Amino acid sequence: TGRAAVPLRVRSLTVRFAGLVALDDVDLTVEPGSLHAVIGPNGAGKSTFFNVLSGVCRAATGSVVLGDHDLTRTAPHRIAALGVARTFQNVVLARGTVSDNLMLGRHVLTRAGLLASALRLPGAVREERTHRARVREVAELVGLGDLTDTPVDLLSYGDRKRVELARALCMEPRLLLLDEPVAGMNGAERRRMVDLIARVRAELAPSILLVEHDMPLVMGLADEVTVLDFGRSVATGPPGRVRGDPAVIAAYLGG
Ligand code: ADP
Ligand code: MG
Repeated sequence: TGRAAVPLRVRSLTVRFAGLVALDDVDLTVEPGSLHAVIGPNGAGKSTFFNVLSGVCRAATGSVVLGDHDLTRTAPHRIAALGVARTFQNVVLARGTVSDNLMLGRHVLTRAGLLASALRLPGAVREERTHRARVREVAELVGLGDLTDTPVDLLSYGDRKRVELARALCMEPRLLLLDEPVAGMNGAERRRMVDLIARVRAELAPSILLVEHDMPLVMGLADEVTVLDFGRSVATGPPGRVRGDPAVIAAYLGG
């Protein structure tokens, strides 16, 4: 299981909303299997960046290329099928149980059509069985193995954040986009999420783009860090170098 990670190449990406440049000529490369963090003050354009990568927001100019695929003008469902999976800054789950939500992640990989599934043709039945098995494995991986039949409404906030990550993992991502995975978590939940991200890297090795405000977390996990400020990339490099960069200090002090 798992698909090979591929590089992400973003070139000269600009996104405009009425009267506002949310992303301004951004270049960014994520090496296969690496964890690249995107940091920056509120309003810097981090979530917009993820929205472009997942196809829900259009680039004005520039390009987004994942491996051999140009994603710049590709529809969201197609981008998802190509292996870009995300979590959201505010948890977004469907109603139903944990496994219902994880099956939604598998759905993007489904080849058998709806009619084949409805008629329970052999191919569709086999595919369904594979999906169920993978959902169980991923639920175990994220520590939700005992909660697969629990309605997500009854879960704690930390557990719901992990359901979201698990749903993304069920898509067999080549590139995983994590938007503030520990936001709003208490200390214990945070540590658990950090351990989980490390485990995902060790076992599934997708390329990861991470938006996060928690600096020690970012500095501890990331191979590369890019700093956005007012939509511009003001610094990029290994955490140790970016931390001391004058442009970064200025961005955070509002200088
Ligand atoms: P971040 O995630 O770094 O806090 P965002 O990407 O959410 O920043 O926002 C970047 C800028 O773009 C902000 O000024 C925000 O108000 C604006 N923005 C984001 N989404 C929209 C939208 N759909 N329409 C208009 N402006 C938007
Ligand atoms: Mg945001």
